[in-house]
Amino acid sequence: TKSDMSKEHMMEIRRQNCNPMIMKVTYYKKPVFIHQGHMQWLWDVDGRRYLDLFAGVATVSVGHCHPKVTAAAEKQLRKLWHTTNIYVYSPLHEYVDKLAATLPEPLKVIYLTNSGSEANDLAMLMARLHTGNFDIITLRGSYHGGSPQTMGLTSNSAYKYPIAIGLGCHNTMCPDVFAGPWGGSHCRDSPIQTIRNCSCPQGLCMANDKYIGQLKEVFATSVPSRIAAFFGEPIMGVGGAVQYPKNFLKDTYKLVRERGGVCIADEVQTGFGRTGSHFWGFQGHDIMPDIVTMAKGIANGFPMGAVVTTHEIAASFGRGVHFNTFGGNPVACAIASSVLDTMKEDGTQQISHEMGTYLLMGLSKIRDKYEIIGDVRGKGLQIGVEMVKDKASREPLPPAAMSEIFEDTKDMGVLIGKGGVYGQTFRIKPPMCITKDDADFFLAVFNQALNNYMEAHH
Ligand code: PMP
Repeated sequence: TKSDMSKEHMMEIRRQNCNPMIMKVTYYKKPVFIHQGHMQWLWDVDGRRYLDLFAGVATVSVGHCHPKVTAAAEKQLRKLWHTTNIYVYSPLHEYVDKLAATLPEPLKVIYLTNSGSEANDLAMLMARLHTGNFDIITLRGSYHGGSPQTMGLTSNSAYKYPIAIGLGCHNTMCPDVFAGPWGGSHCRDSPIQTIRNCSCPQGLCMANDKYIGQLKEVFATSVPSRIAAFFGEPIMGVGGAVQYPKNFLKDTYKLVRERGGVCIADEVQTGFGRTGSHFWGFQGHDIMPDIVTMAKGIANGFPMGAVVTTHEIAASFGRGVHFNTFGGNPVACAIASSVLDTMKEDGTQQISHEMGTYLLMGLSKIRDKYEIIGDVRGKGLQIGVEMVKDKASREPLPPAAMSEIFEDTKDMGVLIGKGGVYGQTFRIKPPMCITKDDADFFLAVFNQALNNYMEAHH
């Protein structure tokens, strides 16, 4: 492969003309200059190949430049590009028909957007108009977007600014059964066990009651008696693959509805089979949201998002004109349509389930070998490895140490992600086309990176 521009030239343009913040988030000390992608693989400008286990944050769902999706995009590009909402064209209708079929009743009305933040903005507006209430609750540590409204939902200081944003947004304690004050091995739905024991009687999770107690305290102290909504991811993404105690979302939904609020599942990361056991993450929690938002994997990396809701909520929202120039444009719809077909043909949800379980099993063995791995968790290909100073304290491994292991893993040919409020959790969320060989390669590389770190520092 050959790059169109030298690395030095790109870095110079970055310094002069790009958002200065992106200088800081090249992600690696020695940045990866990517050039080309194919399925689970990325190549850099020097022709080095990387196994991509981060997929641009769970965004490339069926594989980089998947041939079928690329062909569908090319076909549509030659036929029609246009804006939405003015004329009627088939790619949008074909797509919403297919997408609606993946969701249970009564979630059948679809609004197409261009990003996850836009989808969540729309969901906030809908919830407020439908309920006539204003206040919204999210979980601490969550990420729901970077627009001025969704910045209020996002409960992570790194993404906040000192301006009047997110009025009416509140958060409750994240029900984190590993790092939080309550929890234990049987609290969450996972193919593997956590290593922390807790004092709950067998078969009875008291941790859930404690975290629900925190939510009740928010109701009693921070919001009016009637609220607009609760936003929650089925498994936290940017927050570090945090999984909640069983029944936490179910109990939360009940309490929110008692106060007049609607329940919103943010499936931007967990949707489209990512959690393996179900096509939608919320289906693993025995709940029925009133609104579901999605983006990222929806179009395998092409900009697109969606909000799905009920006819009843859509009717309340219909009082004003909602217009979105690019949302649901024919090219995005043709791509997203082909992504849904490809998911079926390639069996991506099954791969996610099988490879996810295989990785979790392998990682739990590595966890038992190293004092600095506190927790391995997740479902399907939405996996987190929480790093700690030591297993007893469960304090976050400092950023410099995280960075060393992260960089070393990359230098050995595997790209993973970082997350968690303190940047203490490695995140694994690859394109859902990885094989057992890829998983074995990663496990060997990660084990070696940990070995190298321990030898250098202990
Ligand atoms: N919700 C979740 C759960 C996300 O992870 C993200 C992006 N990290 C968003 C919403 C916002 O999506 P976008 O970046 O497309 O605006």
